[in-house]
Amino acid sequence: MDSQILFKNRVAVLATMHKKERVIAPLFEKELGIKVTVPQFNTDQFGSFTRDIERSGSQIEAARLKAQQVLLLTGESLAIASEGSFAPHPSLLYASCNREVVIFIDRENDLEIIGEELSFDTNHNHLKVSDIQQAIDFAEKVGFPEHGLIVMLNDHPKNSDEIIKGINTEAALIQAINNSLKKSVNGTVHLETDMRAMYNPTRMKNIEKATYNLIEKINCLCPKCSTPGFDINQRIPGLPCEWCSAPTTLTKCVIYKCQKCGFRKEQLFPDGKQFANPAQCMYCNP
Ligand SMILES: [Zn+2]
Ligand SMILES: [Zn+2]
Repeated sequence: MDSQILFKNRVAVLATMHKKERVIAPLFEKELGIKVTVPQFNTDQFGSFTRDIERSGSQIEAARLKAQQVLLLTGESLAIASEGSFAPHPSLLYASCNREVVIFIDRENDLEIIGEELSFDTNHNHLKVSDIQQAIDFAEKVGFPEHGLIVMLNDHPKNSDEIIKGINTEAALIQAINNSLKKSVNGTVHLETDMRAMYNPTRMKNIEKATYNLIEKINCLCPKCSTPGFDINQRIPGLPCEWCSAPTTLTKCVIYKCQKCGFRKEQLFPDGKQFANPAQCMYCNP
């Protein structure tokens, strides 16, 4: 088995309404000879960034569900779907990070392979505003108008007519702020960055990087049976401290596992370092 032989000239259906094919399709076509098509498909039923529809399950579960649904809908055997999330940076206050996953499901060969990108490059942000100038200052900070904006009455909208999405001109922004301020009971409205891929080139870049990661994994074959997607299945912590040799929570070794034949391979020091910085040690730097 070989990725090129398994996938060449096959069609993959991509579950997206947000133009993700712009970055995903050319890569699949060029690297694997897979033709990507985008069927009519409502992905917002699986959750939206504007929180009017809750996401179903974890990030990977949501991506998997989209891929499975698009397979059911089209009757095809290859599917691609992606899902993004934004969270506060684990150690830096006030900074956000963006995790993108792109899932690839092959029903014919019973394979599921997941690419990922974790990036601190994101404009994910929000602000309560009470006048136009505050809105314009915020817009400048977050890369408007190349990056779109969303105006809502408050940060937990009850229904979709309280949300104005995809704002990408100053005139539309002023109009949306004015209209929402008129309806507001407390004199403020909620302004946030539109994180949908086609309104957010920074996020689109991260989806592209996750797609590169996915293709790398598809091309990583099991040394024993050559099934694509030979990937890290387990991370074992315990990288020793450089000063006192005590085990830290950093990864000491990873285990690759084939999802077809179960072959396992251990790789010591996957991050290229044999010791951890003492700053990570619970004894040297409490
Ligand atoms: Zn194998
Ligand atoms: Zn130490």
